[in-house]
Amino acid sequence: MKFNKNLENLTNYEAGKPIELVVREYGIKPQDVIKLASNENPFGTSPLVAKRITELATNAHLYPDDSYFELKDALANKFNVSSKNIIIGAGSDQILEYCLHAKANENSAVLMAGVTFAMYEIYAKQVGANVIKTNSQTHDLAEFRKIYDTHKDRISVIFLCVPNNPLGECLDASEVYEFIRYVKDETLVVIDAAYNEFAKFKDAKKGIEPEFIVQNFKNAIYTGTFSKAYGLGGMRVGYGIASQEIINELGKLRAPFNITTLSLAAAITALSDNEFVQNGIKSNFEQMVRYEEFAKFHGLEYIKSYTNFIILKFNEQNASQIVQNLLKKGIILRDMKSYGLNAIRITIGTAVQNDRVLAELDEILK
Ligand SMILES: *Cc1c(COP(=O)(O)O)cnc(C)c1O
Repeated sequence: MKFNKNLENLTNYEAGKPIELVVREYGIKPQDVIKLASNENPFGTSPLVAKRITELATNAHLYPDDSYFELKDALANKFNVSSKNIIIGAGSDQILEYCLHAKANENSAVLMAGVTFAMYEIYAKQVGANVIKTNSQTHDLAEFRKIYDTHKDRISVIFLCVPNNPLGECLDASEVYEFIRYVKDETLVVIDAAYNEFAKFKDAKKGIEPEFIVQNFKNAIYTGTFSKAYGLGGMRVGYGIASQEIINELGKLRAPFNITTLSLAAAITALSDNEFVQNGIKSNFEQMVRYEEFAKFHGLEYIKSYTNFIILKFNEQNASQIVQNLLKKGIILRDMKSYGLNAIRITIGTAVQNDRVLAELDEILK
């Protein structure tokens, strides 16, 4: 059978391995599995959210309020923008997908950092766009400009991941704003802020303000998610904040009821429990120091991270082999081989989880 030609250049995205797989393949009890591969919140979800989901279980037969009025209102208050500047997606992934469908096609190119979120490339290829990556693995805006200058007429979307998954580095907000100003109005700049809550906590200079973007730029969109700091990865809720013009266009791509009744209630409730979110972020950076110290002790290179994960680079040892060995012990980490790196990405866990991960790694590196 012949399929859409654009799919020929694509392979399936390999997500972090699920707990169920380790249980099935290695016979480990679910409660003994430590999953630090997908940057989920190790503290789970806020108890208020869990309670709300239970309360609403009997509403499962009802479609959600498709205007998402209450969630948009809560986000509008949080970010000091209008509800009209907000679109809700099934994860911010869906917003990224809409951006490409709205702006890219076979005649356009999409620009991104050398090593960045894999979905940018996948969504770009789905619409047949050309993918251009900087030689620099991390975000080097001088190189972004140089490439942009050369391919100005073709580049329709530029992705900035602030901070960057999977490497963890983070541009300053002022650098991001300056870059958007440099780019012509016809090019959409997507600021993927999936981990921006973490970055902002660590260094205020890294905090991207959606309000500033809406007020100053017609060609940029801020995307955020409930999957990381808010602990709702399983509920699939994200959002985009941009000019009404952009939001209106993306709205044309959105199917009705694209998030569920329970997801909607979970996201609204999650926004009301700021303490849960802030405590998680605080613990994240306290615990991250342990991985940095570990790396220094063992002579491993690491990238200073503004996120809830850290990259450890290996020298002689084969990172894939280490990931595989740990998997057999019920510890799921992320191999960076598909990104061309002999490195492991570790989501920062709870103190107890990190105790075990660090002890096992120490054993391997001895
Ligand atoms: C996790 C993540 C997202 C969005 O995840 P969703 O669960 O779809 O909201 C977007 N960008 C990056 C870089 C991420 O790591």
